[in-house]
Amino acid sequence: MNSYQRGRSCVTYAISETWIENYELYINGKIREPPGPINNHSLKEQLKKREVPKNTYAVNELLWKFLHKLYGGGPEITYTEKAESITNTMNELDKISDTHTNDTLTRSTGYDSVRSSILDVQKNFRCNADDFIKPIRLSNPSFYCYQNSCLQALLSINQLVDHVAEGKYKSLASKGTIKFWPAFAEVVHASVNREALFSPKKIKKLSVGRFSPSEQQDAHEFLTFLLSGMQDEINLPQPPKRIEFKNSSTSWAFYKRYNLSMVNQLFAGQFNSKVTCKGCHNETVTFDPFLDLQLPIISEKTAKLDDCLEAFQLEEEIIDLYQCQKCKSTQKATKKLEIERYPKILNIQLKRFQTYPKKQKILGMVEFPIQEWKIKP
Ligand SMILES: [Zn+2]
Repeated sequence: MNSYQRGRSCVTYAISETWIENYELYINGKIREPPGPINNHSLKEQLKKREVPKNTYAVNELLWKFLHKLYGGGPEITYTEKAESITNTMNELDKISDTHTNDTLTRSTGYDSVRSSILDVQKNFRCNADDFIKPIRLSNPSFYCYQNSCLQALLSINQLVDHVAEGKYKSLASKGTIKFWPAFAEVVHASVNREALFSPKKIKKLSVGRFSPSEQQDAHEFLTFLLSGMQDEINLPQPPKRIEFKNSSTSWAFYKRYNLSMVNQLFAGQFNSKVTCKGCHNETVTFDPFLDLQLPIISEKTAKLDDCLEAFQLEEEIIDLYQCQKCKSTQKATKKLEIERYPKILNIQLKRFQTYPKKQKILGMVEFPIQEWKIKP
């Protein structure tokens, strides 16, 4: 800490405690695996919530540059303070941190009074990366645009990126060898490390049996393939019998008990499906989870996304006759599907290909809001 000089403004770098602890274990020969890229995403999240980052180590610029060059990662989080107060704080730290071998590495956890004096400079904290992960350059040797576009979209979901970057999926995986999460993790690490050009080899290897590399493929089909693979590696075996629940909350709680993956946490929503018997007007309501919505395109010209969503939830006549449990007879009936619960991330497929009454592609455009979508209740 001697590099700080009085009268100058100094920059200190924050690194998450978890990463530093792994680094120390590795350096001391207690674990064989190197710590991987520096992971400050939890600190970034705390800053976004306007909280002072907890459980951090403070390092000087030299050490930050050394570790970052060696391991990559980020984002870079700094704070600036007048040199005088930093020097005082560091003098205090020197007194109590003499057990540490590296004098440029100062443990803040456990030394609450000192930590608060260091970190009581919230207004000076800066996260030097953008608020979201930027798209990265993904190689496309043949027809991989359908895969790359899905991967770029997934990389824009902070919660998913953080979950993978921090390796949290590893402790949730209950089924031995997993392939889908490590394959996606390869892309996340390339993104976090801002690699210049990246080829998602593991993803390509996984998809080759299903999607021929010499043909164009459907992006939504690939996304479903990837997300299904990821959820299957984490979720518990599903109950053998379908259970009907009387209300949406108990049905939802039951679903969440078996479906633990981050994919489900982010993408799963809930339908409310109501069937009405035209004979006795009895209504039967069931609740079902969904991971995406397949919306109709309602105009040959231009439609709004809201209108597609509304059309999706319109009441429709059931083509086959309905066996009513109330009036114990075969009747005509109507069905109305509504969204009971929206997911955090809504995955929408627009149904551009119509098969009934005739096979055709619908060329109409769909307008959708980019900034804020206020969903009609
Ligand atoms: Zn009936």
